[in-house]
Amino acid sequence: MTKSELIPLRKEPQVAYLSMEIGFDSRIPTYSGGLGVLAGDTLRACADLGVPIIGVTLLSEKGYFRQEIDSDGNQIEHPVDWNISEFLELKGTQASVFIEGREVRVRAWEYFLVGSSGHQVPIYFLDTNVPENSPEDRRITAYLYGGDTRYRLIQEAILGIGGVRLLRALGYLQIRKFHMNEGHAALLILDLLSQEREHGTMESKLVETVRKKCVFTTHTPVPAGHDRFPVEVACAVLKGNFPEQEIMRGCPGGELNLTRLALDHSEYINGVAKKHGEISRGMFPGYSIDSITNGVRAVFWVADPMKELFDQYLPGWRSDPFLLRNALLIPQSGIQHTHQMMKKALVEYVEAKGGKGFREDVFTIGFARRAATYKRADLLFRDPAKLSEIAEKAGALQIVYAGKAHPSDMGGKEVIKRIIQTMRTLQGKIPCIYLADYDVTLAKLLTAGVDLWLNTPRRPQEASGTSGMKACLNGIPNLSVLDGWWIEGHIEGVTGWAIGPRPAMGIEESSDDAKDADDLYHKLGEVIVPLYYNNPAGWSKVMHQTIAINGSFFNSHRMVQQYVLRAYFS
Ligand SMILES: *Cc1c(COP(=O)(O)O)cnc(C)c1O
Repeated sequence: MTKSELIPLRKEPQVAYLSMEIGFDSRIPTYSGGLGVLAGDTLRACADLGVPIIGVTLLSEKGYFRQEIDSDGNQIEHPVDWNISEFLELKGTQASVFIEGREVRVRAWEYFLVGSSGHQVPIYFLDTNVPENSPEDRRITAYLYGGDTRYRLIQEAILGIGGVRLLRALGYLQIRKFHMNEGHAALLILDLLSQEREHGTMESKLVETVRKKCVFTTHTPVPAGHDRFPVEVACAVLKGNFPEQEIMRGCPGGELNLTRLALDHSEYINGVAKKHGEISRGMFPGYSIDSITNGVRAVFWVADPMKELFDQYLPGWRSDPFLLRNALLIPQSGIQHTHQMMKKALVEYVEAKGGKGFREDVFTIGFARRAATYKRADLLFRDPAKLSEIAEKAGALQIVYAGKAHPSDMGGKEVIKRIIQTMRTLQGKIPCIYLADYDVTLAKLLTAGVDLWLNTPRRPQEASGTSGMKACLNGIPNLSVLDGWWIEGHIEGVTGWAIGPRPAMGIEESSDDAKDADDLYHKLGEVIVPLYYNNPAGWSKVMHQTIAINGSFFNSHRMVQQYVLRAYFS
């Protein structure tokens, strides 16, 4: 196909994609981690592929937070001040949502993602900081995931109910599918039901009619991760939007459970990796739950020098990332030389941030993700003496970390502190740094500049994971617990290495920290570090295979095509 044949006609948006967070540019700090970055990559891939979709999210005027880490390893949170009007355009249209009986005006800021073929995907950032609103209501969309349970429900009402009302007010009347990226947006269902009723749909057909319009992606394999509210809280917050009996109908069993609401009213439901689909089917028996494994947007996550190399040997890969399967055509020296350029950029960044003793010829391990305790960021440091021994015997190591803990996640903050304190005890033996303020820019630098991407979640809690996929696109192999996407991407010694055993079928899973740490040290000391230092050609081959086998598949072009076929236009 020639390029001009790919240019789609201007299409009226038919799918609305609602997500509490959407992240695609670190200057627009309206995301906290994987969920938001996935939403950003999804919408950008839709723009590339000409999918008629619109994004809806919250403005998060003060961002999530800017992370500072003090010398003792304590996380300090600062509001992010970003210049909204530099990036987004304020629309004149408003909608109303009732919160605790008060009318709250919601306005929207618009941004267009422009795809490689010129197709545009609008994103609306919802904002309650409108002069007519009370001071308290003006702060509803200030902080992403800020505040208590009640505040969370209020934000979710703005996203779900405010989102669909605003789309209607903006004139988007042809929406066929509402895609809820996680349960946060599920209150839109109550609004769709009430619309259908107003339009005269028979009572017995209401649920069926709304179900045809809804798509739900669940991301959370742990029951505690699903938002639930007592029915009294739900009624108190939502009153005024719908008659009370309709709110009550959304609360079967005496509570408002957004996951249940979404499950009961979505024709298409999916988990975000094959294993996560299986886990979700176990958690929610009786529902038909598919899986679409996540992907990341190749042209964004491949680092610039690597992009040029791909252009030379795999022309066309930017619009057709499946061409990366031919990565074995690239000479070994090309990949190695290009990787060294990216590693140099990382080492320079680390030095600028105060890292001492980092070198471009030393094997570098990277770990960066939200500091949630199930991710076990400190597993690598369980036995610092063992780690020093590996560095002495198998070959020199250096280690780079990053990741934010949610402001109210004390456990996550403790993990950061422990890591930083352990890093100090390794001084003089292994250069280590914990980089502050992890965001998409830092993620790009890390997933291109390290030699090995480490992931150590407690099974089966990693629904998918996506940073490892970003590393693959840059030829960086993973060393990871077999959970989430890695179960599908792992071939031992070919695309990377596993920590611990293969998962069994079903949901009876658990992780043994001591065993996993032993296996991690064993793989590092006996297999990975020796391969890196003693067999550069062998190492290079793994890098090639990583791009060819995993980069060509775990990308958002493949993912979006699956959503289009199975969920949007089936
Ligand atoms: C990709 C990304 C994540 C998600 O990483 P996981 O491996 O899924 O935990 C989180 N934060 C940022 C900034 C990212 O770019």
